[in-house]
Amino acid sequence: MTDSNRAAVDVLVVGGGIGGLSAAYALSRQGLRVRVLEQAPEFGEVGAGLQIAPNCTRILHEYGLLEEVKSLGVLPSSMVMRDAVDGRELTRLDLHDLERRYGFPYVVIHRSDLHAVFLRACRERGVDLRTEQRVTGYASTADRASVTLADGRVEEAELVIAADGLHSVARQWLAGDDLVNSAYVAYRGAIPLADVDREVDLDEVSVHVGPRCHFVRYGLRGGEMLNQVAVFASPKALAGEEDWGTPDELDQAFTDTCEDVRAGIPLMWRDRWWRMFDRNPITNWVRGRVVLLGDAAHPPLQYLAQGAVMAIEDGWVLAQHVARRREAATSTVDWDAAVAAYEAVRTEHCRRVVLTARSWGELWHLDGTARRQRNVILRSRAVDDYSFVDWLHGPTALAPEDLPPMFDPIPLESVDVGQDQPALTEA
Ligand SMILES: Cc1cc2nc3c(=O)[nH]c(=O)nc-3n(C[C@H](O)[C@H](O)[C@H](O)COP(=O)(O)OP(=O)(O)OC[C@H]3O[C@@H](n4cnc5c(N)ncnc54)[C@H](O)[C@@H]3O)c2cc1C
Repeated sequence: MTDSNRAAVDVLVVGGGIGGLSAAYALSRQGLRVRVLEQAPEFGEVGAGLQIAPNCTRILHEYGLLEEVKSLGVLPSSMVMRDAVDGRELTRLDLHDLERRYGFPYVVIHRSDLHAVFLRACRERGVDLRTEQRVTGYASTADRASVTLADGRVEEAELVIAADGLHSVARQWLAGDDLVNSAYVAYRGAIPLADVDREVDLDEVSVHVGPRCHFVRYGLRGGEMLNQVAVFASPKALAGEEDWGTPDELDQAFTDTCEDVRAGIPLMWRDRWWRMFDRNPITNWVRGRVVLLGDAAHPPLQYLAQGAVMAIEDGWVLAQHVARRREAATSTVDWDAAVAAYEAVRTEHCRRVVLTARSWGELWHLDGTARRQRNVILRSRAVDDYSFVDWLHGPTALAPEDLPPMFDPIPLESVDVGQDQPALTEA
């Protein structure tokens, strides 16, 4: 690499998903030169829905992108949780009240629309966006990092951000840890509302929770589309079989659910499904001048709907710390200090989210007596009690000491539901 193009490259981002593009945009707003290397032939996202909570829409507002995102998505009035077996309401969030509390809205949006917003924003800021660039290796010296591509080329920069997702090559190089298999699988389906032959209320985000399964439904694109997600524990995965999560398991998993849920199952896409893995949290996301971001750093089970949100927060936090540690006269960045500050706060916040998402899933998927105890607790929640989301939806912390306190879950055993209830169905 010559001295002239060395000076032109500050940051290299591996992976052009929502995490990589949003980080590229955040850093380009600080005046840095950013290059994104994406392995796919085109930039894009799967055509399903995404929930984005106020801790993300706050950042989109700062970026000047929120109005566009709102115009492309849906702002539902409520989020309603119901029991998937009897269909009865358990609890609800008034999303207009939630917006008043946190200052920013809860939006549901087509993933490709949000991705396209960041792609266009990156283009407008002159981010160098390259496709068909598969990164196979990483290296770092004290003040530069490099990546090796599948064709043998080497690219280097002052900082490399690895936003290469769940199966991250960088994570392997940095931590060498394994994915954790939840044995749950997600089916998605986003279809035109015109193809749905029954009434669905797209003014709400609906979540049905049941024994070893749950079902999510909301509108997209101003209500023109219906988005559904069906999640269940795969008996074949639990039995250690290779071929797990197949459509026969989908149909079987929801047979004991209420009519409202069962009516949605035939509308799911059946040609692909997502086996659900996360990773145990780690405290080290940095090796020399390579830093992890998004799912590469903290892939969650998606039960809190915070995976993409956390990725967008990561980029914002990193850019804030870069701005604070940038010498105005020379434009040099104290990268070591910036990435250390990023790592200090984000590893802890994301650890909380990943572990809470696991326990959230356990709570949603209860059966028998525990299911009834959960239902009592959820039904007794005051509609204006936000204690269980305050730690998530408030302003994104920039330092560990600014992280809000966690909520205290109510123990299931504190609820007496009389005689033990047998499990409804066996896995
Ligand atoms: C069913 C389901 C529902 C979800 N719902 C929500 C939700 O409502 N809200 C929410 O916030 N999150 C949700 N999530 C989580 C969210 O989708 C992810 O956390 C988020 O998309 C991660 O973004 P990312 O950019 O870090 O990774 P990815 O989206 O995986 O992007 C990684 C990119 O890197 C590229 N790449 C990978 N390897 C290489 C390589 N070696 N070289 C170059 N490029 C490479 C990939 O092609 C890809 O473009 C959900 C997840 C699932 C499975």
